[in-house]
Amino acid sequence: MSLLPTYFFRAFAVVLMLLTSGQANEAKTNETKLKVYLLGTGGPEFTPNRLGYATLVEANGQKLLFDTGRGVTQRLYESRVNPKEVTQIFFTHLHSDHIDGLPTLWMTPWFLLGRQQPLEVWGPAGTTEMVQGMRAMFGHDLKHRVNEFNPPGGLNVAVHEIRDGVVYQRDGVRVTAFIVQHGDGNPAFGYRIDYAGHAVVLSGDTTYNDNVVRQGQGADLIVHNVIAFSDRLTRLPEMQGVLAKLTTPQQAAEVFVKAHPRLAVFSHIVTKELPTGEEGDKIILERTRKAGYNGPLQMGQDRMVIEIGNQVVVVPPQPTEHLPALDSKDSTF
Ligand SMILES: [Zn+2]
Repeated sequence: MSLLPTYFFRAFAVVLMLLTSGQANEAKTNETKLKVYLLGTGGPEFTPNRLGYATLVEANGQKLLFDTGRGVTQRLYESRVNPKEVTQIFFTHLHSDHIDGLPTLWMTPWFLLGRQQPLEVWGPAGTTEMVQGMRAMFGHDLKHRVNEFNPPGGLNVAVHEIRDGVVYQRDGVRVTAFIVQHGDGNPAFGYRIDYAGHAVVLSGDTTYNDNVVRQGQGADLIVHNVIAFSDRLTRLPEMQGVLAKLTTPQQAAEVFVKAHPRLAVFSHIVTKELPTGEEGDKIILERTRKAGYNGPLQMGQDRMVIEIGNQVVVVPPQPTEHLPALDSKDSTF
């Protein structure tokens, strides 16, 4: 056989493969019921590629944001979500690394992008006081930036201080808050989001907790926090307090084995004395596997998207270099 036909056959096969995968992707996109954006997957630490914790869940046209860690507004923009469209925000707890992105999300889309909608926030006792404090901090803008182009209505913030139970129900989308244990971060909640027979569970910041297992039973996706130190630090007595507030890979394995989600993803990834990037990720995955969890598992990355329908599809972060600027009321992607 000459080389020519083989070459043509190969080229043809590649084109076919692309077409098939293109069609498959389209089918998957069409059936998406819940879309989960991992906007920020870090804790409070500075690392080169993880910003503060924030997760956006999109269901039936509603955009529900869970926590507002450092950089959340930038990550929304990079994820092609116009920050002015995100007005419903749920807080797991009031530690600074979960709320410190709120001021930018509140203020900048209002004066720059023309947001007219007020914010609506849900959070534990103390959320009202936190919002009042934010308003005080931005006293200058409240006094001098309000004008006919930027009416004050878009700066209103309606606060719901919540207990566990169903905290939100609109057009078939339900959000349930459940209690978790986060030491000096208490009161702390995890959340379950239900829509069209599908469910996403966010552990929030917590150590191993049976409520996550209960709520996570049969969920499509569990987004779970994780803390992983070097062996040296793990053994140090003074580190036990920090380790006890979050979930080790071994404890997470126990949650996943018991709850059996279609996919488990780590976010709010806290490490010390571990390499950053892929090398560190590998260590966390290995520890989870070694502890007995063999199901679908993924390290979260900032701007990763998970589409949930008949299938659960992980979409890797998209490049951002050629994104147009969002710099005025009229700008779009
Ligand atoms: Zn945290």
